[in-house]
Amino acid sequence: MKQPLSGASAFAGAVASTPPALAFLDAALDADGARALRRERPEPRGDPAVSFCSNDYLALAHRPIAAQAPAGAGASRLVVGEHAEHRRLEAFSAGWVGYPAALAFSSGYAANVGLISSLAAPGDLIVSDELNHASLIDGARLARARVAIVPHLDTAAVDRTLQEHRGGRSFVVTESYFSMDGDSPDLRELRRICDIRSAALLVDEAHALGVLGPDGRGLCAQAGILADALVGTYGKAFGAAGAFVAGCPALIDWLWNRARTFVFSTGLSPAVAAAARSALALADSQPWRRERVHSAANDLRDGLQKLGVAPRGFGHILPWILGDPGEALRVAAALHTHGLDVRPIRPPSVPPRTARIRLTVTAAHGPADIRRALAAIERVLASSVSS
Ligand code: PMP
Repeated sequence: MKQPLSGASAFAGAVASTPPALAFLDAALDADGARALRRERPEPRGDPAVSFCSNDYLALAHRPIAAQAPAGAGASRLVVGEHAEHRRLEAFSAGWVGYPAALAFSSGYAANVGLISSLAAPGDLIVSDELNHASLIDGARLARARVAIVPHLDTAAVDRTLQEHRGGRSFVVTESYFSMDGDSPDLRELRRICDIRSAALLVDEAHALGVLGPDGRGLCAQAGILADALVGTYGKAFGAAGAFVAGCPALIDWLWNRARTFVFSTGLSPAVAAAARSALALADSQPWRRERVHSAANDLRDGLQKLGVAPRGFGHILPWILGDPGEALRVAAALHTHGLDVRPIRPPSVPPRTARIRLTVTAAHGPADIRRALAAIERVLASSVSS
């Protein structure tokens, strides 16, 4: 009788040990100094610990959705993958952030890589904040333009770098709310500098949209500026997956034609597009979600300060810098024994010697959760002092 296929196939045993040609993988991951940076696979969700490390800021990811649209696009959008849900989502997203047009990508990573690598070319200059997300860095690398990395949030350095640039176009790339630091550049000043120096301003609002700014419309909206390209993701506050780039119609047309992560990739799942659109609508109709995030963030930040932990930045991302990756692992494990799910963030996700616990709050956290988190942190701090 034919056996039903299961995850554990007869082939599993054959590759259980690393083949000689790939022995370098284990050697590199286990090398001295690399061990504390090695990522183990976390347990699938279902851990009873209260999570303080998710990007599901508006607590929308767990809502079940009825399939309103096809599961898959079936092809690249340029071939036969175009669905009405893509158009609806793009129109809604563009309107939501106040731009004329938008293009949906299958992830934020793909959006950033496609955007930057299609816009900039050899001879151009990309001015990039030193703490920009990997997807922004990789987009710049693929563009093969000159990349000038400027100190974090240093707008004067951005201006100097642009001023010195001769020939070629220039692009300034930043996050609006830094994912690992919870801080923000002076966006109004960046806009002013870009206007004077004829540079394009590309802003990744992945961690701000839905939560920060007027009605959650992001920090560009709060600063009263328009970016030349604004990236928003559907996988964080909106609890779905995918991302969009918003901008002028010419930019969107350009990306449709030239962004390789868009052109050569299967279109975003229409079902996911529908889920993303309903999440944007819920972010509007249920402002209590945002209000809960803000009050949880304020309470946690105040409480941490009282415990002598000074988290960086502001808002719903609270980085507790520990420095040593081993220490970050130890603190995360200790917090887990007290019912708190937090994950250590270690290099290369963050600069060397700045390993941290990145605490995030969501609309799912009530006052009791914050009290529980603070009590757990207090106990772990006390045990560090006594040991
Ligand atoms: N930009 C930033 C600032 C991010 O933090 C992330 C994800 N961590 C991305 C882009 C990529 O988004 P996605 O997860 O949708 O690929």
